[in-house]
Amino acid sequence: MARVTVDELRKEYDTGSVVAVNDLSLEIEDGEFVTVVGPSGCGKTTTLRMLAGLEEPTGGRIEIGGEDVTDVHAKNRDVAMVFQNYALYPHKTVFENMEFGLRMSTDLSEAEREARVAETAEMMDIEELLEDKPDELSGGQKQRVALGRAIVREPDLFLFDEPLSNLDAKLRTTMRAEIQRLQNELGITAVYVTHDQHEAMTMGDRIVILDGGELQQQGRPTDVYERPVNGFVGGFIGSPSMNFVDVDVEPDGDRLHLTGRDGEFAYDLSGAYVDRHADDLESSRYTLGVRPENVTVADGAANAIATTVDVVEPVGSDNFLHLGLSDEFIARVDSDVRLEPGDRVTIAFDESDVHLFDAETGRNVLT
Ligand code: ADP
Ligand code: MG
Repeated sequence: MARVTVDELRKEYDTGSVVAVNDLSLEIEDGEFVTVVGPSGCGKTTTLRMLAGLEEPTGGRIEIGGEDVTDVHAKNRDVAMVFQNYALYPHKTVFENMEFGLRMSTDLSEAEREARVAETAEMMDIEELLEDKPDELSGGQKQRVALGRAIVREPDLFLFDEPLSNLDAKLRTTMRAEIQRLQNELGITAVYVTHDQHEAMTMGDRIVILDGGELQQQGRPTDVYERPVNGFVGGFIGSPSMNFVDVDVEPDGDRLHLTGRDGEFAYDLSGAYVDRHADDLESSRYTLGVRPENVTVADGAANAIATTVDVVEPVGSDNFLHLGLSDEFIARVDSDVRLEPGDRVTIAFDESDVHLFDAETGRNVLT
């Protein structure tokens, strides 16, 4: 296993007109499972392909296990990659698929290779499939084989490119747990790419969020969730998505008056909270962000906001209340809360759950 350093890594396509990865710097600790998440086209696959040596960087450096591998050919890097489409050799059996990489990348004897494949097949619960060809397997079985093929080589670094995206929801949950089990058992160092923020949040020791080829934020999932550095991260992480309301902020002694620009919204931030952040608040136009799960229906609370229920969306134990505060403003409340479209309601949220994003830069001024 190995520590990985990515230093100002850059990839331009089409003679610079596309910057797929824009000076990305990351440290991945030995044995760490890092998830990389962001919307389609944000540079996830390009980053992985550069780590694997399948794509030549335009600039920057990659170190794996203390060795500068930036100019090292893919086959001489001790890295295994698992792809969304499995990428199994169609004419080889499962056994041959797993054994082939070992033959290419190690000098183990035939007997040693067979023992390693058998051991890994048992770990992945695919012993029964060893003589089958890929087209005889289900999607879930193919992905187990692809994982087994990566694991059997015992590489320094595992790279996963949306490996579960082709599986149905139930199988995805099973495989997610399976990969986490393997990570715990084997202590693998891994970079796991996904567009699914839920997957990234639940699987990663650390989560790295990209947008437009640029690093937005990295940290422990809970830290990123609680302290998003900008509106993009705030909106991307969490489901349903963070609510945003454009507000004007007016300082008044030890308070900040927040007024919605459509006039429906008034909220005060006060006391120590404002003291701590007063210096950060320069311009007067911000976007307030608050998560659906932090909005409560509460009559008579301090800072209560009166609004209208537009839609009630039941999701089992909770209801999503779509409220009239902005185009899309959701409160996630207990399904015991009986409300109907058209009802007037007062809502509240704790000031520690409020984020203020600079309307121009998107930066969270309260982190
Ligand atoms: P993701 O995996 O996050 O969806 P990619 O890394 O595949 O993103 O792509 C990042 C950007 O680079 C996108 O704008 C994509 O169109 C562009 N891109 C990727 N590969 C190539 C290529 N071979 N030639 C030109 N542009 C590319
Ligand atoms: Mg991709």
